[in-house]
Amino acid sequence: MTETREKPAPAGAAIDTVDAVIVGAGFAGMYMLHKLRQLGFTAVVYDAAAGVGGTWYWNRYPGARCDVESINYSYSFDPDLEQEWEWSERYATQPEILRYANHVADRYDLRRDIRFSTRVTAASFDESAQRWSITTDQGDDVSAQYLVMAVGCLSTSKMPEIPGIDVFRGKWYHTGHWPHEGVDFTGQRLGVIGTGSSAIQSIPIFAQQAAHLTVFQRTPNFSLPAKNAPLDPDEFTALKARYPEHRHEARTSAFGVPNPLPEKSALEVSDAEREATYEAGFEKGSLVGMLLSYNDLITDKAANDTAAEYVRQRIRSIVEDPEVAEALAPTDHPIGTKRPCLDTDYYATYNRPNVTLVNLRKTPLVEVTETGVRTSEREYEFDSIVFATGFDAMTGSLVAFDIKGRDGVMLKEKWAAGPRTYLGVATAQFPNMFMITGPGSPSVLSNMMISIEQHVDWIADAMTYMREHGKQVIDPTLESEDEWTEHVTEVGNTTLYPTANSWYMGSNVAGKPRVFLPYIGGVGPYREICDQVAEKAYDGFDLT
Ligand SMILES: Cc1cc2nc3c(=O)[nH]c(=O)nc-3n(C[C@H](O)[C@H](O)[C@H](O)COP(=O)(O)OP(=O)(O)OC[C@H]3O[C@@H](n4cnc5c(N)ncnc54)[C@H](O)[C@@H]3O)c2cc1C
Repeated sequence: MTETREKPAPAGAAIDTVDAVIVGAGFAGMYMLHKLRQLGFTAVVYDAAAGVGGTWYWNRYPGARCDVESINYSYSFDPDLEQEWEWSERYATQPEILRYANHVADRYDLRRDIRFSTRVTAASFDESAQRWSITTDQGDDVSAQYLVMAVGCLSTSKMPEIPGIDVFRGKWYHTGHWPHEGVDFTGQRLGVIGTGSSAIQSIPIFAQQAAHLTVFQRTPNFSLPAKNAPLDPDEFTALKARYPEHRHEARTSAFGVPNPLPEKSALEVSDAEREATYEAGFEKGSLVGMLLSYNDLITDKAANDTAAEYVRQRIRSIVEDPEVAEALAPTDHPIGTKRPCLDTDYYATYNRPNVTLVNLRKTPLVEVTETGVRTSEREYEFDSIVFATGFDAMTGSLVAFDIKGRDGVMLKEKWAAGPRTYLGVATAQFPNMFMITGPGSPSVLSNMMISIEQHVDWIADAMTYMREHGKQVIDPTLESEDEWTEHVTEVGNTTLYPTANSWYMGSNVAGKPRVFLPYIGGVGPYREICDQVAEKAYDGFDLT
C-alpha cells in the first residue's frame, strides 16, 4: 500500500514576488527549495502533481522500482538523513521511494512553499524589470529573479502514434500516469504496448494476473536480472559507516555510481576470460557493472558485440520457444546504447502459456479499435490496454509550455533543431533560467540523484555569487553555448550511442530532431568542468 501524504499547500498565502520560482517538486525541485531556503533566498515550487516525488508520484505501475541501487539512489546532502533512512531492498519499490520523498518533505518542512496540483503554463523574461513573470493554471502570476526548471527528464509521457485510442471501449492506462488506487487485471484479456523499462518491470506481474497477456513489441531491449533482494542490515550498517567515501566515489565516477574503471579491452582477453567476466557481470544484477566490464564496450562495435551476444545467449537459454527468443534478443542496437533494463523474471514470463509476444517488426500496429488492437495481420480483443510507451525525454517538459526569453524568443523555437545549452544548465537568451539535469548534461546517463545534487549546488552557488557581487542577470554567451553543444555532440560521436534509435537520440518521438541529448563525458569530469567555470567567475556567462 502506498503511503503518501498529499497535503494541500496552505491556502491564502499570496505570493507574487520571490527570488526563485522552481517548476517541479520531484527530487530536483525538493532539494533546490531546501538549498535556497538555507541560503536565505525566497522560493516557491509548483507541481502539477498533488504530492511530492515527481517520477515516483506518477509512475505507480506494478513492479516500478529504481534500477540504480537504493544506497546510491538517495540524497547525500545531509549525513543525518543518510543515517536515519533505512532502505529495505537492494532496488527499492516505487512506494518505498515515494515514502522517502515524503519523509524528506516532512523533515525539511518543504510543503509550505510548494503549490501542488498547479501547472506552470507560461514564463517570460521581462527585459525592463530583469525578472521572470510566471503564470499557472490556477491563476498565479509571480515575479521572480530566477526561474529554475526542475521539470524532469522523463515526465512528459508519450502515447503511440496510432489512430483509434479514443474509440477503444475497454479501459486503457499509461504506465507514467498509473491510477493511485491500483488496477487489478485478474481474469482479463490484457494488451501491453511497448517493451521498454516500465514494460519490462510490469509485464511479469501483469502475466500473473491476466487471463491472457499479449505484448506488442517494436524493438526488443537488453535486460539483465536485477537480483533484487532484501538489504542485509549488517551490510547496510557497514556501508553507512563509510557513506562519505562512497558518495565521493559516486561523484567522481563515470555514471554516478561507485565502480572501478576497467583497464582492459574486451578484445584483448581470451574467450574464456571474457565469458567469465560477463557471467559475473550478468549475475551481479548491475547495469553499470555490466557496461563497465571492459573499457571499450560503449566505443567499439566489435567489443560491444561480444557483450551483446553474451546477453542474447542468456535470453535464448531462458526462453523456451526459439522463435520468441529470437524476437526478444536485440540485434538492432549495441548493448547500452538504448537504456538497458533490470528485470525480475521478464524473459521467463514468455514461457507462460497465458503470454503471447507479437513482433511488430513483422506485423506492424495499424490501429486501436473499439474492442482491441489491429496489426497488419489480425485483430486482438482486450478488456484493458496498457501503454508502456515511455516519454518525450529530456526536452519534452521544457518545451511543453511557452517560455519566452529575451527579444520574445521562444524556447521551443530556439530548440526546434535540437536543444542548445551551456553545460546543460542554462541556455543563451534565457537569462537567470537554470535547468536541473538539462540536455547537454550527464542526466539520464547517470545516477540522477548525484547529477541532481550537483546541479542544485552549482545553481545555488551561482545565485549566491550573483548576490554577493551585486549582479542581477546571468546569461550564457552564444559562443560558450555553441562550443558546449558542439562538444556534447563530439563526445557522443566517439561512442556507439548515436548509432541507435533511442530516446537518448529523440528517436521515439515523431518529428523530434535526431540529436544526442545527454552528455557522455562522465559524471566526474563533467563536475570538474562545471567547478572550473564557477571558479573562473562563471566563465562563459555574461554577468550584469
Ligand atoms: C519508471 C522510472 C524509473 C526510474 N528509475 C531511475 C533509477 O533507477 N535511477 C535513476 O537515476 N533515475 C531513474 N529514473 C529517472 C528519474 O526521473 C530521476 O531519477 C528523478 O526522479 C528525476 O527527478 P526530477 O525531480 O528531476 O524530475 P521528476 O521526478 O520527473 O519531477 C518533475 C516534476 O515536474 C513536474 N512538472 C513538469 N512540468 C511542469 C509544469 N509545467 N508545471 C508544473 N509541474 C511540472 C512534474 O509533474 C513532475 O512531478 C527513473 C524514471 C522513471 C520514469
